[in-house]
Amino acid sequence: MKRRAGAGMLVLGASVAMAAFSCCLSAAGQRPREHKTQNVILVMIDGLRWQEIFHGADPALLRTLGPKWLGDPEQMTAAAEHSFGGGTAAERRRELMPFIWKTVAAQGQLFGNRDLGSDSQVTNGFNVSYPGYNETLSGFPDTRINSNHVGPNPNRTVFEWLNAKPEFAGGVAAFGAWAKFNAIFNRQRCGFPVNAGYDPFTAVPATPKIALLNQLKAETEHVWDDEPFDPIPFHTALEYIKTAHPRVLFLGLGETDDWAHLGSYAAYLDAAHRDDEYLQAIWKLVQSMSQYRGKTTLIVLPDHGRGEGAQWTDHGASLPASRETWMAFLGPDTRALGERKGGPAVTESQVAATLAALLGEDYHAAVAQSGLPIGDVLGN
Ligand SMILES: [Zn+2]
Repeated sequence: MKRRAGAGMLVLGASVAMAAFSCCLSAAGQRPREHKTQNVILVMIDGLRWQEIFHGADPALLRTLGPKWLGDPEQMTAAAEHSFGGGTAAERRRELMPFIWKTVAAQGQLFGNRDLGSDSQVTNGFNVSYPGYNETLSGFPDTRINSNHVGPNPNRTVFEWLNAKPEFAGGVAAFGAWAKFNAIFNRQRCGFPVNAGYDPFTAVPATPKIALLNQLKAETEHVWDDEPFDPIPFHTALEYIKTAHPRVLFLGLGETDDWAHLGSYAAYLDAAHRDDEYLQAIWKLVQSMSQYRGKTTLIVLPDHGRGEGAQWTDHGASLPASRETWMAFLGPDTRALGERKGGPAVTESQVAATLAALLGEDYHAAVAQSGLPIGDVLGN
């Protein structure tokens, strides 16, 4: 279901990447410092635009009808307008992403509201998924990863780098809807559990819930051949947090991108809203467990943006607006600056080093081409 980048965009990708590095260098301090964060949960929501995060549902798009095969388009549109069609952008964004606006905006930081001069972007130039996940997880764009049709990642992710350290070994895991996460994390090499697509999760002895989730993966309709619906990876990851207590966890959610490509704005909004509920559930769970309470940082972002206006369904190198993203940080080291105004652009290539720095580790020193940590979320 993921969009393929044109091969002709390789050159553009390289030049954008170069430009982005110079922007990263001015962004932040890089030394590990006193920190409270002992655990990090990184959630990536595929192709969810900054426009919906900061403006809520777009009233013009809300009135466009999706494909008929999905259900009665008039009914779906009416339901979406009822749920997410508030009178002002401030109301609509709270209706769509209540956890982001009630909790993250109050206690954490949100980057990417262009109305306030805050910019967040991918720097890989391709504006599709695998390049975006690689940039975020490895800390740098790579012109070899120029589409979604690339095999096992030649780059180590910050997850693999952390898992190689004794203090994190065995405490790292990744769950994703999209089957491609097996390649992105290089499951064969990385040394920690990666569970993606329709694969049953067998890395640990199955709890009754994991056994049921594995059964549902096998038996429910495979609407997309490379990913199940988001509840499957979400509940698998939540059960893993409860039972295995990982220190560094990745969760990749994919329905937002799938429904957008199919042109259903109502289904795209429903998926985004459900993902927000999932963020709230994760946050509530970790605050109820002594290993995590007051010691866990949540990072949320997409892997790319999407086109503007009528081009909202699509993304890629031919749609420059789809490089625009957003980022959310919530945790004990991140000052409650809320919605960020102005400041240098933050880039997805900075997330790996930021994640490591929150845990007291200097990824940028080890991987020189990675973006610098975002100092503003580290409590310096
Ligand atoms: Zn896509």
